[in-house]
Amino acid sequence: MKLPYNMRLSALGERQQFYESFNLKKSRSWVGRKLVFAVIIGRHSAIYPAEYVKDKDEPLIIDNYHTLKDVHIQILKFLPEGVYYDRNYYKDFSLCHSYDLRKAWTWDNFLGQQLAFDLDPENVDCPIHGPSQERLAKGWGLGFCETAFKITSTNTVQLYDELKKNYTDVRIVFSGRGFHIHVFDKDTKILTRKERKAIASRYQKYGIDPWVTNGEMRLIRLPYSLNGLSSRVVLPLTVSEVAEFNPKHGALPFFV
Ligand SMILES: [Zn+2]
Repeated sequence: MKLPYNMRLSALGERQQFYESFNLKKSRSWVGRKLVFAVIIGRHSAIYPAEYVKDKDEPLIIDNYHTLKDVHIQILKFLPEGVYYDRNYYKDFSLCHSYDLRKAWTWDNFLGQQLAFDLDPENVDCPIHGPSQERLAKGWGLGFCETAFKITSTNTVQLYDELKKNYTDVRIVFSGRGFHIHVFDKDTKILTRKERKAIASRYQKYGIDPWVTNGEMRLIRLPYSLNGLSSRVVLPLTVSEVAEFNPKHGALPFFV
């Protein structure tokens, strides 16, 4: 995995330092509602606390908690490479614990899903290194170059401007690699799978990940958490900040 801008994996001790002073309340306020959280311990980084070797690859769901402090304790226990939240809305959170949330779309406890777009530099065609499919075949995986990143930030600004014609509450987050665009307008919560698929294909030209937009992938990185694959903070940005944003100097955690 080749990364530009001096991005690198975070060591376990760095994850620990970061999450010791982590303000989960700030993340929770940004989303603005009660959340189901999830962590991925070591799927892409292959860095994980030894006792979680069996759990390192799959998302571990944190839904059975009373206060955010309980969640914080869990995060400090797992020291994950990534922290996520579930974009789904549920009637009764206490039922989530005993249900396979991957099947949430057909569950009667399911109320809808927050609309989101995921723009990653490995998904755009690069004038220097070739189309994304070709780079993937060459084994680039999650790697990318500065040119692909700049194309991704331009695409993000354009997609944001286009979405603002239809929606009011549209927010951009640097994901630690590319960008997420979150749409919080209430009427988008109840869009059907079919409608989401249509939205995903309408905006596909911007290099979005259709699985996030069409509802298949419900988890998204939690704002202000650490992206342990790049050692960058998952950071909300205004649209004008996105145009100027340079990940070499921006969104650095204190240990970099
Ligand atoms: Zn390139």
